[in-house]
Amino acid sequence: MKVLDVIRYAGYTFAVGTVTEVIYIIYKRFSKKPKAKKAMTEVIFFPDSKVACVDYFTKTNGCMSRDCRFSHKENSLSKLFVTLSNSTRSMDVCVFVMTCTDLSDLLIRAHQRGVRVRVITDCEQVDATGSQVWRLRSEGIAVRTDESSFFMHHKFVVIDGETLINGSFNWTRQAITGNQENLLISNSPALVKEYRKQFEHLWSLYDPRST
Ligand SMILES: [Zn+2]
Repeated sequence: MKVLDVIRYAGYTFAVGTVTEVIYIIYKRFSKKPKAKKAMTEVIFFPDSKVACVDYFTKTNGCMSRDCRFSHKENSLSKLFVTLSNSTRSMDVCVFVMTCTDLSDLLIRAHQRGVRVRVITDCEQVDATGSQVWRLRSEGIAVRTDESSFFMHHKFVVIDGETLINGSFNWTRQAITGNQENLLISNSPALVKEYRKQFEHLWSLYDPRST
């Protein structure tokens, strides 16, 4: 009897060991680790020689104009258009001067497709010629300003909490085709985290209800 017990015990142990191993192999095969996002860093420089056609680069049907006077060739602005129009969840925009209608259109279109758009800009630029702030507000986009004699001088955007656009570029026609400007586009988590934090800090700081 004792020998039989030993054999039975050994059998159980073997069976349990085998089953455990099989479960582990199946687990390893089917439990995929979330893939790390591919690192992306790009730098774009302005001025562009021509203004890119916003419809051509961002609308499903492309440009419907027969005699479009804007560029259909990829350039710095077209890359910015595409990056902004790819937003699916959120766009946190912190830009000193905003007079470019094409870029504002992309914010409005994002807002209309359900993206949470928040804008921070400088109080002294709100009523500047061509300012898009009141247009954005009239479309229901939340815009906050610094209300200070100092400048809210940032020029950065965080898209979907994971892509940063940052540099010297104000959202003006002069910055597109006139000035020497740079923009860094990056999905570096370390960078994005700091800019997200700063945006949230300013968003709370400029909350009109807190003043
Ligand atoms: Zn066009």
